[in-house]
Amino acid sequence: MKLLNTDTVKEARDKLGERCRETMLRTEIVGLRDAAGRILAETIISHENIPPYRRSIVDGYAVMSKDLAAAGDMIPSMLKITGEVLLGSDPAGLRAEPGCCVYVPTGGYVPDGADAVVMIEYCEPFAGGMLAVSKSVSAGENIVRIGEDMAEGDTLLEKGRKLRPQDTGVLAAAGVCEVRVFVPWRVSIISTGDELVGPGEKPGPGQIRDINTYTIAARSGAEGFDVVRTASVRDDRDAIVKALETARDESDVVIMSGGSSQGKKDMSAELIGELADSGVLTHGIAAKPGKPTITGFDRASATVFIGLPGHPAAALMVYEQTLIRLWRELTCQPEERRLRARVTVNVPAAPGRRTFQLVRLSGGDMPEAEPVFARSGMILPVSAADGYFEMEENREGVRPGDMVDVVLWK
Ligand code: AMP
Ligand code: MG
Repeated sequence: MKLLNTDTVKEARDKLGERCRETMLRTEIVGLRDAAGRILAETIISHENIPPYRRSIVDGYAVMSKDLAAAGDMIPSMLKITGEVLLGSDPAGLRAEPGCCVYVPTGGYVPDGADAVVMIEYCEPFAGGMLAVSKSVSAGENIVRIGEDMAEGDTLLEKGRKLRPQDTGVLAAAGVCEVRVFVPWRVSIISTGDELVGPGEKPGPGQIRDINTYTIAARSGAEGFDVVRTASVRDDRDAIVKALETARDESDVVIMSGGSSQGKKDMSAELIGELADSGVLTHGIAAKPGKPTITGFDRASATVFIGLPGHPAAALMVYEQTLIRLWRELTCQPEERRLRARVTVNVPAAPGRRTFQLVRLSGGDMPEAEPVFARSGMILPVSAADGYFEMEENREGVRPGDMVDVVLWK
């Protein structure tokens, strides 16, 4: 079987994206406790001002700042204490009047009339309800204004954001108890190869331990996908078909690894062609690593099929560039942050192919990227790499001193 109609990585993603956008992007509503780690499917706008009242950031006395203009260590200013604000309640008619002050705890409501709060450390109560203050304050000092944290109408969190713990705090503060998020894809992983044994087994002559099942499952989990099934299957047509059919019934994405090139026992393309009603959409991508890559989409069951190369480094990179990126694009996630770094040595690009080069980073203010070469089938260098940079299809390579943008490994 020949590698026909080689696509760029983007073409491969777009072909899948066009077909699965409608059927494969489901959303659901989750409560705040389940929101972290999920991808927002709506933009959240503030309907309130937070804080909704002027809030003190210290324990102290609410004052009119001009009353303390001359206050200092040597000559404190004297104010009359006219009341105390209780935390969690409104000041009940209390007002700061000239020459007077009101006690306010941290987080308390700053009464009308006051324009600053002086910290308790600078205050000393005296008999007769008087307070000596040994420090001046400027207007606004120690007060968070109404709406200073979030104002009514502010965009709080945008669609496509992967919610972090602190984001759930924003939602809680804004009174948003439920949010609409994308339903993660259910993923099945089928590793194929007569040579594969499990990680708990001792490989015999010509055998190796199955790596891809574990890297791809873990990478899926890290992206938030739901890994519903993994299977390691021999290069046996019937066994693979059976595994693919079961996986199709249970998942949104069926990932095969191995058997994607043109060897005698390589069946990915043929089987994906049979199982996906689109037929094979992409047969080979113009990428290094990762040329033998196959995709298909079965509309009837709404299932994406991907045949990844067997080589672990290639399988992981192709998975990243196809399915993970597709998910991120469809769910409106921003591009991942990249770290600018200086390349230390010559790195050639593969002509006509997009090259993904693993690197290790060193250095502080100006990071240096040293290429890591993982020969076919090797995994330790992949693990030692901090990330990778891309070289476009028409690029010849990079030279020492060139700057590149490194995507950090998840
Ligand atoms: P294949 O695409 O099946 O020809 O596999 C290419 C290379 O990747 C071969 O050397 C396989 O032994 C190796 N390989 C395939 N699947 C796995 C796997 N799940 N874990 C580790 N290596 C694999
Ligand atoms: Mg194989």
